[in-house]
Amino acid sequence: MAIRGVAFDLDETLAVPSRDRTTLLGEAVALAGGPPITREEYLDAHRKNLTQQTREPIFADLLTQYEESQADAKSLADAYRQVVTKSLSPVGGSAALIEELKTDYRVGLLTNGPIDAQRAKLEHLGWTELFHAALVTGELPAGKPDSAAFEALLSALGTNANETVYVGDTPLDDIEGATEAGLFAVQVRFEDGPDRDPRADAYIDRDRLALELPGLLASID
Ligand SMILES: [Mg+2]
Repeated sequence: MAIRGVAFDLDETLAVPSRDRTTLLGEAVALAGGPPITREEYLDAHRKNLTQQTREPIFADLLTQYEESQADAKSLADAYRQVVTKSLSPVGGSAALIEELKTDYRVGLLTNGPIDAQRAKLEHLGWTELFHAALVTGELPAGKPDSAAFEALLSALGTNANETVYVGDTPLDDIEGATEAGLFAVQVRFEDGPDRDPRADAYIDRDRLALELPGLLASID
């Protein structure tokens, strides 16, 4: 069946932070006077809070591990949102790529995270109207890799799973999630990024995404 839809992950696929996320977390914690939360602790708490309005429940979970801390979850969430949002830049040529793809495909975005955090990133990038459909899992019943998240994406695009390609970097959330839901999966690769996932249908270097994705989609077609 011909490919009619293509959808993207956001973080590390179409947009990258100027500093590593451990540094950004440290900057936010310093701004809000928080305890020494590690990146691993943050990721564990994030994974348990994929369908929230803000990052406040993530930091509230984290603060239960640091009972002596006087910091509050809302200040930490606000500081982290500001630091992360400001640090974000689009992958080279990605906006033009999306515009180009929209002439031939239904084009979507499906990103894991709280509503305010992810919508602020799209606004910062100037991408609120870029996609035919942009879904944030905070607005959905479940986050990636749950099939319900991909089903919501397909429903918003109006395409079937077997005619839709999902492009993302993370093995569990993006590649397993998409392929388990019946979509094709293209894994975006970059230096120091996640390992190559054998379940992906194809691979692409992030630096060459804008240049090579249209041809790659035509070959899956
Ligand atoms: Mg990602």
